[in-house]
Amino acid sequence: MAAVRAVLALGGNLGDRKANIRSAIRALKETEGIKVVKKSPLVESFAVTAAGVDQSRPNYLNGVVEIDTELKPGALLDVVRAIEKDHGRIRLERWGSRTLDIDIITYGSLIKDGKRLTLPHPRAFERAFVTVPWSLMNPDAVLPGHGSVAALAAEVRDQVWVVK
Ligand code: ATP
Ligand code: CA
Ligand code: CA
Repeated sequence: MAAVRAVLALGGNLGDRKANIRSAIRALKETEGIKVVKKSPLVESFAVTAAGVDQSRPNYLNGVVEIDTELKPGALLDVVRAIEKDHGRIRLERWGSRTLDIDIITYGSLIKDGKRLTLPHPRAFERAFVTVPWSLMNPDAVLPGHGSVAALAAEVRDQVWVVK
């Protein structure tokens, strides 16, 4: 199978956030069938839960990576879920605090709405912590169905700050 370019978003708000993201990227690099091509700067933002912005929770640190992968989408999801688990991810409440979350933002130009996997990620377009680092990594990036990532990022730029 020819490699497919995909974008993954990584983030968390518990523990050593930067170390967790770095270690997750290392785990991706060590995975057969995944090559990490590019890494974004990291951005920080206030926690958002189902109830809205919650400044009483620890802030999030987020970044995105571009990968080339020979894995099918379902196998890629298995890999990222295993890496989350290795980094102590526990699911209690929707959008609850976590040590590490990895979302598949795009998988080539694939559009799909499945039971386990929706591609592109259905909420990526409105999330500053995805679009801002992504546009900084790749100013020409396009989110299928939504157009220019830089244009999406410009609308929400004030919701995150770059921490490098
Ligand atoms: P959100 O999806 O709003 O970012 P979350 O990341 O906190 O919320 P999780 O608990 O990590 O949600 O994921 C719930 C499920 O979403 C996963 O088990 C997975 O099956 C499904 N899912 C659907 N589409 C995707 C995708 N593009 N990337 C990652 N997981 C996805
Ligand atoms: Ca997520
Ligand atoms: Ca997730």
